[in-house]
Amino acid sequence: MQIAEKQIESDPGLSALNHGQREAVLAVDGPVLVLAGAGTGKTRVLTTRIAHILRARRAQPPEILAVTFTNKAAQEMRERVSHLLDGRPVEGWWLGTFHALAVRMLRRHAELAGLTPNFTIIDPDDQQRLIKQIMETENIDPKKSPPRQVASYIDRWKDKGLLPAAVTMNDGADAADGKMLLLYKRYQERLKQVNACDFGDLLLHMITIFKNPQHAAALDEYRRRFRYILVDEYQDTNVAQYMWLRLLAKGSNNICCVGDDDQSIYGWRGAEVGNILRFEKDFPGAKIVRLEQNYRSTGHILAAANGVIARNEGRLGKNLFTDAGDGEKIAVRGLWDGAAEARWVAEEIEQLQNKKWGLDNIAILVRAGFQTREFEERFIQLGVPYRVIGGQRFYERLEIRDALAYFRVIAQPADDLALERIVNTPKRGVGGTTVQALYANARAKGISLHDSIIQMKDTDELRGKAKAALEALMNDFARWRSLLSSSPHTALAGMVLDESGYIKMWQEDKSPDAPGRIENLKELVTGMAEFESLPAFLEHVSLVMENQDNGAVEHVSLMTLHGAKGLEFDAVFLPGWEEGLFPSQKTMDEHGMKGLEEERRLAYVGITRARKRAFISFAANRRLYGNWVSAIPSRFVDELPEDNVEVTADTGLYGEGRSKHWDSSGSNPSSAPARGVGADGGGFRRGARVFHDKFGQGTVINVDGHKLDINFDAGGHKRVMDSFVRPLSETV
Ligand code: ATP
Ligand code: MG
Repeated sequence: MQIAEKQIESDPGLSALNHGQREAVLAVDGPVLVLAGAGTGKTRVLTTRIAHILRARRAQPPEILAVTFTNKAAQEMRERVSHLLDGRPVEGWWLGTFHALAVRMLRRHAELAGLTPNFTIIDPDDQQRLIKQIMETENIDPKKSPPRQVASYIDRWKDKGLLPAAVTMNDGADAADGKMLLLYKRYQERLKQVNACDFGDLLLHMITIFKNPQHAAALDEYRRRFRYILVDEYQDTNVAQYMWLRLLAKGSNNICCVGDDDQSIYGWRGAEVGNILRFEKDFPGAKIVRLEQNYRSTGHILAAANGVIARNEGRLGKNLFTDAGDGEKIAVRGLWDGAAEARWVAEEIEQLQNKKWGLDNIAILVRAGFQTREFEERFIQLGVPYRVIGGQRFYERLEIRDALAYFRVIAQPADDLALERIVNTPKRGVGGTTVQALYANARAKGISLHDSIIQMKDTDELRGKAKAALEALMNDFARWRSLLSSSPHTALAGMVLDESGYIKMWQEDKSPDAPGRIENLKELVTGMAEFESLPAFLEHVSLVMENQDNGAVEHVSLMTLHGAKGLEFDAVFLPGWEEGLFPSQKTMDEHGMKGLEEERRLAYVGITRARKRAFISFAANRRLYGNWVSAIPSRFVDELPEDNVEVTADTGLYGEGRSKHWDSSGSNPSSAPARGVGADGGGFRRGARVFHDKFGQGTVINVDGHKLDINFDAGGHKRVMDSFVRPLSETV
């Protein structure tokens, strides 16, 4: 204890910790696992621990490996540690996401993976295009196995750390009669040919290198280098990430992981909560620290979150408490449609602003990316500054992707996908047949599309116009590439967009969105100035999909629940709590009970992001994929403990006689649009045969107030509101 007091004196960061947290920080040597609920200071433990290690001169910054879940979280941690070190910037360290850290390693050892250091990282879009090409070559019908599905098999195998040769029957080696595995194999070969990796490869290649005894020196180097390893959001690591960590940690054995099983929300991407349970086995003698005090949220918010998550089975279980006082209840609001919801949210935000709450401390967390649009439109209309965090908004735009393709071919001629994208954009008379001929030659000779063009442009295999155009294009690329090291990359980028005719193409385009696209292209070049080179910029784009910060303006943050992990805001809006949207129907259809529990953990993550105010809303009508659908409140709304919420709704929303919350709403809806059934709950019994406008006929399997679980003859299991259901004459 005395020692601890002495240490506190020399490290003021420690005095801001409770006993358990301090214990986790001071146990610097040996494996440590902090297993604790939301807002208990796990991330604070990590940052203080890093600062403590640096202050005590146990290691230099480059000797620490710290893994965060998002780039935003990495940035925050950098700031927090720098703050703990009295503002001293922390340079040269290995702090970032698994992807960012792995790509940095792989660039240094690319040859060991059969690549050159300037390899391209392809995104999911390119990944699918590549798969489609391979399927064509292999004569596999993309209608039977859509490329998206093939990609998801490949991703899952990579998440498990499996190269094609390692995939067993248990892992689905026989999927689609073994075609999936065959495509995986061909896909890996093809990636190597074009000197590219997908995201999954970054770790997979490193693991493969580390496991190869011939490359033991590489692993040894990192084991010696990283004296301390720290991992945030440990509950969401997948097998490949875990293997990578374990390989590295076997050096110093100084690994500290923090996590919360209740916040595991990436099961669909291969995350294994089991990694938490394995920790003690893989790292014998590990110190396990549990934290129970939540420092983030007020009482009602914490109690509501605890109430919801308590419905999950198979939890490690924990009791969280807060000293922060009850605070305000969670506002739960039912609205007519999405536009009304956006108006309501904007009004509430305005009221918060009137109370001098900063926009930086307000976030809207959505289940699905498309949900942001309605809020964005409202904010644009009202002039409320906002940012979409973690979305791919800017870099996803067509013109940006085209421009990036030009830059990619300059940086990396073998980038076939990029070249294919722009070889005839703007139109140069290089049609599909020509491209196919070029590819056929490339395949026959085992060379890239780029080299194939160079070979064929002088032959009569190509038509006159295409021939001349390709010749000119290749000359252009050669010239641009020669300027890569001598001229500023922004100037080069401008030149490329100009000389390629790409900007001109949009200038001549008369569609209403063309001027905006030109502005975007200009903005792209402006943004590049922040990077030292074209390759550095391209790397940034492939890794960081977050929008650039538009200066010092305070803004509301819009992001997905998944992207909000680890973050906190004074006020959090959680819109779209409707059955099917949240919990997501797709997740439930695909993963049943397990999927539902993961959705519930998402709800827990969402609520626990709030410090002082949480707002939950749902709409009775929603436009989904172009069609209007009527929606019913999410079951999670009902799971919120009544004592911790304040419910209100637009009048006449769902007819009379609501579920428990509706009765207590006090808004007393009058005009009841209930159709076909009485206002007393419909009187449906289990086993009743019913008809629903959208889903057709089905059998009621469960009645929960006004909500019915129905097995639809065609559409499977759904939960619907009784007012949208008519009884069929026969009963079973
Ligand atoms: P999550 O599970 O959501 O990632 P977490 O466990 O990582 O949460 P932190 O983000 O580290 O929690 O901490 C939550 C909030 O509580 C932060 O604002 C942090 O500064 C504050 N906090 C943590 N520990 C203490 C403490 N001992 N005293 C006061 N405030 C604290
Ligand atoms: Mg955290």
